[in-house]
Amino acid sequence: MGRFFASLETRLIGALCLIAALSVLLQVVTQREAFALRKESEALIQMSGLAENAEQFSEAVGKLRMATNRGLVASNASSTSDELTDAAIAIGDQLARLRSSGTSLYDLPEASNPFADLDRHVAAILEVQSGAAGGQKLIARIEKRNSAMARFADELVDRARANREAAQKRLIASIERWQLLVFGTGLVTILVVLLVLFDILRNILPAIRRMHGHLQGLAEGDLDQEIGTFRLKELKALSGPLETFRRNAKAVKNLAFSDAATGLPNRRAFQEDVGRLLAAGAGRRFACMVIDIDRFKHINDDYGHAAGDELVRLIGERMKTILGSEGIIARVGGDEFALSMPLAARGDAVDLANRLVDAACAPFSLGAYSVVVTVSLGVVELDGGEPVDIDEILRNADMALYASKKNGRNCATPFSPSMAEERAIDRALEKDLESAFDKDQLRMVYQPIHSVQDSTREVEALVRWKHPELGEVPPSTFIPAAERSGLMVRLGEWIIQRALRDFAHWPDMDMSINLSPLQLQHDGFSTFLLDCCRQYDIAPRRLFLEVTESLSIERNTRALLTLNMLRNMGFRIALDDFGTGYSSLSMVKSFKFDRMKLDRSLVMDLGQDPASVAVLEAAVTMARHVGAEVVAEGISDAHLIGATKSAGCTHLQGYFYSRPIEADAVQDYFLDSEARASAMA
Ligand code: C2E
Ligand code: MG
Ligand code: MG
Repeated sequence: MGRFFASLETRLIGALCLIAALSVLLQVVTQREAFALRKESEALIQMSGLAENAEQFSEAVGKLRMATNRGLVASNASSTSDELTDAAIAIGDQLARLRSSGTSLYDLPEASNPFADLDRHVAAILEVQSGAAGGQKLIARIEKRNSAMARFADELVDRARANREAAQKRLIASIERWQLLVFGTGLVTILVVLLVLFDILRNILPAIRRMHGHLQGLAEGDLDQEIGTFRLKELKALSGPLETFRRNAKAVKNLAFSDAATGLPNRRAFQEDVGRLLAAGAGRRFACMVIDIDRFKHINDDYGHAAGDELVRLIGERMKTILGSEGIIARVGGDEFALSMPLAARGDAVDLANRLVDAACAPFSLGAYSVVVTVSLGVVELDGGEPVDIDEILRNADMALYASKKNGRNCATPFSPSMAEERAIDRALEKDLESAFDKDQLRMVYQPIHSVQDSTREVEALVRWKHPELGEVPPSTFIPAAERSGLMVRLGEWIIQRALRDFAHWPDMDMSINLSPLQLQHDGFSTFLLDCCRQYDIAPRRLFLEVTESLSIERNTRALLTLNMLRNMGFRIALDDFGTGYSSLSMVKSFKFDRMKLDRSLVMDLGQDPASVAVLEAAVTMARHVGAEVVAEGISDAHLIGATKSAGCTHLQGYFYSRPIEADAVQDYFLDSEARASAMA
């Protein structure tokens, strides 16, 4: 029975069959009762007719009796005779009618039938009236017969009436039974219909709607819903495979939509989730950001890829904790995350971004090491509830991130529409740089470096690019562009070739050449450099190779090995831009530099800010302590000379002496400068 009700199909068919059966029953009952009613009505009509006949018969008998009595005493014999004859005829008629109606009422044995030979009875009465015969004896017989007829007539009337009443009662009882049966069957049918309706509305439709909701949810990609249990057999049979489908789809989605190393959603998942979040967030403000780990490559190079993966995981975890449950963070690249977060107020995005920048600075423990890294962020703030292109938001955030990288990293930059233009220019630069070699747009210039102690001549080789439309593009712009586009090694080789070709004309000079970290990491760099020196007959000792702090050589074993090798070959190694990054001190410890070049930012405030003198002196003391020369960069004014000299700098370089000059002006510059110096002496 339970199984019967568990199936939607059998339940509906059962209900319909029951309703049909009840309708048929109602029909049968109605027909049967209508037939019975007809019969009862006919019986009643018949009984009523009989009763009427009986009454008329009784009336005729009464009349006969009265006429008899009157005749016996009356003098008008003729009128009595007519009355008697009429009454006798009426009695005969009625008896004939009663007989012909087939009634069993007139059912008398012939011997005791008082109505037999009625004509003789009338004749006897008339005889008595005429006084002809019989006398008292005949009169007594006549009266006896009259009484018998009256008794029989009364009895007949009583019985006919009783029969009529009985027929009436039977008809009423039939009507009542008919009413009851029709009412009962009708009531049961209505109850069954109501029950079926209740079942459909209360159980079947909600279950179907629930299943429909699940299907719609799955179709729309909601794989987190649980497919509930169903009692209806058909839905139950569907819910099992549907739940399996949901789990499988979720597993596939998890694989396709999550990043295995961090367990965070990936770019695709981010696009979908944030699309949904923003679309549903009408009236709210949102932040979307892209986070990039600064110099992540160094971590991979220094500690290995497993450590790099672990670092990415830890950073993702830390960011997620800061965002809380409302935010979405996804890994969208090797060392890149994208995040989205509802904001309490307009402008909160930058605050949040700064908190993330600060949070990243706390050390991470990677096995035996404690590593400090920084992150750069690109920030986009936008309104929810409007149609958005997540790819475009990410592109904008990426441009803002790019600006953060350009601004020295370890910071967050909000997106502004002008960034797209700047980025386009940078992209164009990367492209144009490729043809710059062939089109002779690159050249070398040289900035003199003056020794404080002697008259050694030295220049720093600096590259220049004259773009056909943009004019002079500064190296601080196109060197990073070359590094990004993979052109740096080629550019670096061109620089070395060109600088050494010029340098070959200046045998009494030293030269500094700037190296990009990418050059140092490139296979065969030291061989190439040595070959060039041989080609132009230049002793390695005369060359200073300037590397920047951004190299992070203390952790980059490969670069450190190359530098050591170059130093052993005789080249002198200078640490450029000393004082701009916080890894300076550890770098000085890891490698024995021949020279430190103090960044312009340490020099330019001398004379205005007493603290800057202290910082400069500390840097010089440290450099001298490890036996390195100290070059003060950015001597743009005469007043900086005294301060740098007295702080202990061994060399000075800056616009005060000379801006970078063309190759053919170098020798004249030194001749002029020495002439001026001896004139002053
Ligand atoms: P850097 O190696 O520290 O070079 C010194 C920069 O400071 C040069 O800018 C120079 O023109 C500028 N400078 C020198 N004295 C003064 C001064 O008194 N005031 C001011 N305001 N600036 C002064 P430049 O040529 O624009 O080069 C910028 C940076 O680009 C260089 O910094 C170096 O890191 C890179 N770079 C330039 N040429 C090359 C190259 O051939 N190879 C590589 N790898 N990097 C290069
Ligand atoms: Mg330099
Ligand atoms: Mg420098």
